[in-house]
Amino acid sequence: MRAITIIGAGQSGLQLGLGLLRHGYDVTVVTNRSQQEVAKGRVLSSQCMFDMALQHERDVNINLWDEECPQIDGIGFTIAGPDGSKAVDWATRLDAPAQSVDQRVKMPVWMDEFERLGGKLLIMHASIDELEELAGDADLVVVASGKGDVARIFKRDAEKSEFDQPMRALALTYVTDMVPREEYTAVCFNIIPGVGEYFVFPALTTSGACEIMVFEGVPGGPMDCWADVKSPAEHLEMSKQILEQFLPWEAERCHSIQLTDDNGILAGRFPPTVREPIGRLPHGTSILGMGDTVCLNDPLTGQGSNNASKAAAVYLDAIVSRKSDSFDEEWMQQTFDAYWDSAQWVTRWTNSLLVPPTENIQKLLGAAQTHAELASRIANAFSDPTDFYPWWDDSQAADQLIGKGD
Ligand SMILES: Cc1cc2nc3c(=O)[nH]c(=O)nc-3n(C[C@H](O)[C@H](O)[C@H](O)COP(=O)(O)OP(=O)(O)OC[C@H]3O[C@@H](n4cnc5c(N)ncnc54)[C@H](O)[C@@H]3O)c2cc1C
Repeated sequence: MRAITIIGAGQSGLQLGLGLLRHGYDVTVVTNRSQQEVAKGRVLSSQCMFDMALQHERDVNINLWDEECPQIDGIGFTIAGPDGSKAVDWATRLDAPAQSVDQRVKMPVWMDEFERLGGKLLIMHASIDELEELAGDADLVVVASGKGDVARIFKRDAEKSEFDQPMRALALTYVTDMVPREEYTAVCFNIIPGVGEYFVFPALTTSGACEIMVFEGVPGGPMDCWADVKSPAEHLEMSKQILEQFLPWEAERCHSIQLTDDNGILAGRFPPTVREPIGRLPHGTSILGMGDTVCLNDPLTGQGSNNASKAAAVYLDAIVSRKSDSFDEEWMQQTFDAYWDSAQWVTRWTNSLLVPPTENIQKLLGAAQTHAELASRIANAFSDPTDFYPWWDDSQAADQLIGKGD
């Protein structure tokens, strides 16, 4: 039985681990937080996942919240104009629903499931020394430790990394008692030009249904405002203030909101970074990176968990197809390249929204107000962002698409 060790019990690590167990591998997951610590800890993500990524979960039978988790049926897109107006405003239904299950709910259950299926779960922080030891006992080590320090083993890929500093000041606020969006549920995505973005959608958290508010502030701007916030109550208050100042139609929904819990908040920032997929330990063993460890995007387009799920699916397929051949560097590079084939478009699309939008993007977002087919194409490309290209970049291709609308 081939032995695979995975560092990290997040979206990509556990999804891969659970998938491998079902194929009969001997799998160890090493993670620095126990089920209890994750469940009782702070939120880390808004983890909205679209159909293509959810399908990969269904493929390995780990879609355990389909009944309980509120469905997200559409995408709404608004660009704020001056004086509380909406310069652009449209919404459309998704072909298949999205969903967000709080990682504090999902990961502890997946960890239990992993152990129930015979996986070995080690709770410990893996640094270089531990990795060296773990690598000695495994046919392959996959590092899926997210933004953690271990990622530094993998060299930053300057060519694939467009930015070398954080492009947004991020904040999350998990709340109850928000007025639901009318007609159907949606990710309501709002752009405030020069200031940042705000999006909100229903989710499942530890206490049941909630709404997750995500704030993306341009560094140094008025939404980069979390440094002096000292308590959960102040965090909630700041969330409401931002909406009152910039997005009155969203503030309208929030008069009665309450935090889900004191850990339902987060503020931080990080530079989007793509790394080389192969890391080399001091004694010469090669290890393979996966998920945020090697392809970390800004959360602006809500793609990290989607990417992590897609990576786990690609890696699972590559490991199983390898049969008994060695997991050498050539195979590692090919495995990452197979993932990058699609992930590069996610990164490119996400990065395009971290800088002021090109004329072409403005044209597309505006035209979607009157072209239902285009609106639907944009919304559904959140599930498969490869579909944004070439028209997201290419004015002629965009015109062709707009011409096809109704
Ligand atoms: C504010 C915010 C909002 C987001 N919203 C969305 C969204 O709406 N949709 C979306 O798709 N994505 C979103 N994301 C991104 C998404 O959460 C991540 O991309 C995704 O969780 C990455 O999965 P992963 O498996 O690569 O790593 P992670 O989920 O980060 O898992 C890493 C694991 O490794 C463990 N670990 C770390 N270091 C070590 C170590 N040294 N030893 C042992 N274990 C270790 C951690 O405890 C954890 O279990 C958001 C992120 C942020 C910050």
